[in-house]
Amino acid sequence: MNLTHAEDLPWTTQSSPKGKYGVMRRALSQGAGGGKDVGTWGGGHPFEVEIHRVAPGKMNFPLHEHSAQWEAYYILSGRGQVRGAEGKEGIRAGDYLVFPPGEAHQIINDGEEDLTFMVIADQPQADVIHYPDSGKWLVKPQKKVFEMKAVEYFEGEE
Ligand code: MN
Repeated sequence: MNLTHAEDLPWTTQSSPKGKYGVMRRALSQGAGGGKDVGTWGGGHPFEVEIHRVAPGKMNFPLHEHSAQWEAYYILSGRGQVRGAEGKEGIRAGDYLVFPPGEAHQIINDGEEDLTFMVIADQPQADVIHYPDSGKWLVKPQKKVFEMKAVEYFEGEE
């Protein structure tokens, strides 16, 4: 058995240079013996669970969609908005959301208190993430952000 306690885990803060995006994370899976960004294929658990906290006025991440990863969010406290390809919708404590691959998502805290939620991700061995607002891409496990430039298949090969 792997037991951990959320209150014993540190908050890891991630924020953008100008502060538009900000999220604090408690890594439940890592506390319980799992890895970071790895599924069973890399010695981790088949899902990665974290608690996220977004302060009023902040967004968690830029709008993005995964090519392979599934994510489920369970709202623990606060109120906010979930933004998808179709627009925004209000969310509040008790709501449960599932984002299959290809479905864009972003959490916005437009409320007056912290928005906290549990995030469960299935950790595929590879994932390509698209950011529709900027046109950028991120590839995992390399964790490189790039802009795509199409070339001919054999370019540079002969
Ligand atoms: Mn995501």
